[in-house]
Amino acid sequence: MTVGEALRAAADHLSATSDSARLDAELLMAHALDCSRSDMLLRHQRDPAPVGFEALVDRRARHEPIAYITGEQEFYGRCFAVRPGVLIPRGDSETLVRAALESCSSLRRVLDLGTGSGALLLTLLSERPAAAGVGIDASSRAIETATENARALDLANDWRFERRSWLDHGWQDDLGRFDLVVCNPPYVEADALLDADVHDYEPGEALFAGPEGLDDYRVLIPKLPELLAENGVAIFEIGHQQAESVAQIASEAGFSSELRRDLAGRPRALILRPKP
Ligand code: GLN
Repeated sequence: MTVGEALRAAADHLSATSDSARLDAELLMAHALDCSRSDMLLRHQRDPAPVGFEALVDRRARHEPIAYITGEQEFYGRCFAVRPGVLIPRGDSETLVRAALESCSSLRRVLDLGTGSGALLLTLLSERPAAAGVGIDASSRAIETATENARALDLANDWRFERRSWLDHGWQDDLGRFDLVVCNPPYVEADALLDADVHDYEPGEALFAGPEGLDDYRVLIPKLPELLAENGVAIFEIGHQQAESVAQIASEAGFSSELRRDLAGRPRALILRPKP
């Protein structure tokens, strides 16, 4: 079978489980051939299909996310390593990057709470080479992955990843103060019905946050006064129906909220600033 034929067969096979079957097949084929997708499409269509491609397609047919099969995910134009146990960076979270770059003219110190693959923090550091960054996460797999990603980007910035859980007493002590705190916390309601791709494969501790999906905001937002430098801002990702509830939690902690929407027009982030 040629690459072209194998792609058609795979897209057909995957159409039962994925709404991006052809794209999925192309990404897996490029991975199997260890080349870019465009190279694969332009130069290798008539080559023999690589051994092992079908096994990758079978994994995808069982709903395993492409990013875990290939071990990487693109975010804001850069490639990040991901592995099981670490949340896959989503396009929606680029809303936080855009909000941060627009709202913070001078960025010296950035803290990323629940950094996962490090995609948010490392993107900001790449965009602002003078900034220093700290990322914390309760998961040691996340810390390993974020560290690997920082090394791969070969950043000139000062950066550090630390294993810390905000469920531990005093977790915020001695972190220091930051111009910007970014955070994509878990915010899915405990009984939400997620796609099998997410539910069966991605880490629940990065997704679920109690009955209303608000548990982590309730822990984190009240600690911001200890983490923000003067004129510092915090930017939180939110579920699209959570803007009012999170703004309420922020208001009670002394912060005003400014809403940012994602590319689909849905509420996706809140910029929190201390009320005057
Ligand atoms: N937007 C993600 C999802 O629905 C949730 C991410 C999160 O809880 N931080 O898959």
